This record gives sequence, C-alpha cells and structure tokens, in this order.
Amino acid sequence: MKDLFDQVVNLCKRRGFVFPSADIYGGFRSTYDYGPVGVLLLRNVKAAWWRSMVQLRDDVVGLDAAILSPPAIWEASGHLSSFTDPLVDCKSCKERFRLDKLDDPDLCPSCGKRGTFTEARQFNLMFKTHAGPVESEGAVAYLRPETAQGMFTNFKNVLETSRKRPPFGIAQVGKSFRNEITPQNFVFRTREFEQMEMEFFVPPDEAQHWYEYWCQERFRWYQELGMPEEALRLRPHDPDELSHYSSGTSDVEFLFPWGWDELEGIANRGDYDLRAHATASGERLEYFDQASGERYVPHVIEPAAGATRTMMAFLLAAYDEDEVNGEARTVLRLHHRLAPYQVAVLPLSKKEALTPLARDVLRALQPHFMCDYDETQAIGRRYRRQDEIGTPYCITVDFDSLEDKAVTIRDRDTLEQVRVPVDAVVAELRDRLS
Ligand code: ATP
Repeated sequence: MKDLFDQVVNLCKRRGFVFPSADIYGGFRSTYDYGPVGVLLLRNVKAAWWRSMVQLRDDVVGLDAAILSPPAIWEASGHLSSFTDPLVDCKSCKERFRLDKLDDPDLCPSCGKRGTFTEARQFNLMFKTHAGPVESEGAVAYLRPETAQGMFTNFKNVLETSRKRPPFGIAQVGKSFRNEITPQNFVFRTREFEQMEMEFFVPPDEAQHWYEYWCQERFRWYQELGMPEEALRLRPHDPDELSHYSSGTSDVEFLFPWGWDELEGIANRGDYDLRAHATASGERLEYFDQASGERYVPHVIEPAAGATRTMMAFLLAAYDEDEVNGEARTVLRLHHRLAPYQVAVLPLSKKEALTPLARDVLRALQPHFMCDYDETQAIGRRYRRQDEIGTPYCITVDFDSLEDKAVTIRDRDTLEQVRVPVDAVVAELRDRLS
C-alpha cells in the first residue's frame, strides 16, 4: 500500500498533476502547484461538488467570500481563542510535532527517544497579516482558515436577496489557510488548500432529520464518482470527540495508504454560529416566518470537505496497473466527470495529410468536451500517456479516415475500438459520457 502512495506521487510529477511549489528554488514548505492536468482534475472535483450541491438543487445558493478577514469574525467564531493544535518540541532532535497526532505521546518519531518532549502548548493555526501599509495592531487581518464563516456573516444578505427560506443552504468553494504544525502526506495536509463547504440553515426541530440526510447524501456523492465501497466509510464521532456546540458529527473517511482518514466532516452545529455572530455584531441573524408569525435562529448542518485532499483520494482510488498486449500499463480509472480530458484526438502519424481532418475533429469536439491533441511519438506511447492521465476515450484519425470519413474510438477501460463516422463522433461521445 505504501508503494501505491509513492507511485501516485511520482505519476503526479511525471505527468503534470502536481509539482512542488517554487521547485526551481528547492521547493517551499509543503506547498504545491497544480500542473496542466492537475488543474483540470481539481476543477472537475470542485465542479462535480458544485453541480451536486448547487446546480441540481433549488434549496442551495452559492457564495464567494473574501479570504482576508478582520479579527472581529474570528473573535466571534472562537477561532482566535481556540483554533489551536497542541505543539510539542523534542528537546533532543529539535523536531516539532502535533501531540494529538502522535501514535505514542511520549516517543519522538524522529529520533526514537522517550521523555524528550516539552510541555504541550496551544499553537493558533491562523495566518496573521496586515491590511494596508502600516503594520499596526489596528491593521491586523487573517487569512481565513475555513470558508464557513463567510456563509454565516452573509446569512442576512443572502436571506434578503435570494428569496430562500429555511431549510436552505449557502455553498462555497475556495482556498483556506492553516499554519499546520506538520503538513504531510503530499497534498493531504498542506498549509494552503481548498475547501468545499455548505451551511444548511434549518428550523431547529428539523436539525436531526437534515443531519442524517446530509450524511447519506454526501457519502453517496463519493460513491457516485467511482470511489470503491471498500475504501469508503461514514464514521460517527464518539461523544468525547464532539466540539462543545455539536450534537452530532460524522466523517466520510477514505482508506489512505496509511489507514482510514478524513475527507469530509458533516456536523450538526445547532445555532452556535449565528448566535455568536449576532451577539458580536449586534445584527439580528434569525428567520421570521410570516405565515406562522414564528421567529427563530436557524440551526446549521455543515458538510465540510477538502477539495485538494479529495482530489488526492480520487487519484489513489483510480490508480491501477494491468497488462495490454503483454506490456505493463498504468491506468487511472477516473470517473469521466473527473478525468482531466474526456477525449484525446490522436492522428495516427504526423504526416501532413492527416492534420486537417484531425484538427476538424478536434474543433468539432472542443465546444463539448475538454480535449487533448497529440501527434508526437508512436501511437502506442500516446495511448499509454492518455491512460496514465485517465482519458476515457482516444480518437484515432488514420489514412482510411481520409477515404471513409470515419475515425476509431478507443475505450480506456475495455480497450474496445469502434469505427464511427466523423459526423457522428460528437453524438457518440455525448452518449457515452452522459
Ligand atoms: P484535521 O483534524 O485533519 O486537522 P479538521 O477536522 O480540522 O482536519 P475541518 O476543519 O473539518 O478539518 O475541515 C474540513 C475539511 O477540509 C477536512 O475534512 C479536510 O478534507 C480539509 N482540510 C482541513 N485541513 C486541511 C489541510 N491542512 N490540508 C488539506 N485539506 C484540509
């Protein structure tokens, strides 16, 4: 299983999914850049989430809030006082660790010595900066450590402008920043990452129902996109794991090469957040039901997922090796909705005679699908490259195509090849990819 992790990390660099950031300067503290195919995969993960959470529903609206935010928000939310992790230093080797993630709280995993840790101190994970040219206390700003607070602080704006009423949700996808003590496992835990979060505001007596609904709904999303059943589980938190305001939290977990770990948390947060911001801001953050004359502070169900972490899990789940015509092949069996390219157009040779038709086919496909075009190297090597980046269909234009006006469609998984008239290619692929 450890091998799988290394294989995927290698593939990411080799094929242009993920590069170490500032690579030419030796990298920069566990930050990563998403390359030509990585940016497509990551966008597709976020688009699949948005489609399921916003586009296919009429009870969730979107938001894109600012990343820079004033201390008042984080004071009210409790992040300034308690968004901390316990930090310990090893007095022997000087390494630093997050105490709650150590297998043995007394054993240094770096130098192997016992009893060398300092007392744990609470380390705040928020990145602090200054807005404007003067680095005074009054100019302090924070990079958001989660996207959720943007939904709470805009609750009133959205309620007044969107014509929604509880139960309804506000969804957001975007970057978050946490000064993690030990970023690790490639893009699993980084200091800069992307989240996909939704706050679902409900009448208080419906909270339990919606909590259970969102646990099932979110679990289903991963399965629908091809995560194998045996690598996915929904784990309810034990009572001693729950935050003080949460009456229920479940994690969607994936079986990573190092064991089960979190992809997403679904929490029943009660009215904690809206009440905290109402008290701190002096605004009324509640809902008045004109029909019943009832006024209440909605309760909140929050499915909070990581986009970059989930992308990595999809890569791990999709990685496969098999044999084709006696040759080893690496293939990413990504769901077609997630694959960076849905189609690759590959003229059989670079000969000029084939280029115009191949380019016509490409231009016909481009408005409908994300396409790659590759005319270098032998066709077998080009198939291998497309398999490695997970392209579900390759279209080959050959010399017969010039006569019969037909091309070959090759299926990544079954390796089946079928001849299709050029005029029917878009419809055929639409059918297969719908
Ligand atoms: P952990 O306990 O692993 O630090 P968390 O429980 O604090 O994470 P949440 O605050 O619930 O995480 O964030 C929601 C989701 O955001 C997580 O399930 C994860 O997918 C993602 N996430 C959180 N921190 C990071 C990080 N440092 N790097 C990448 N993704 C992250």
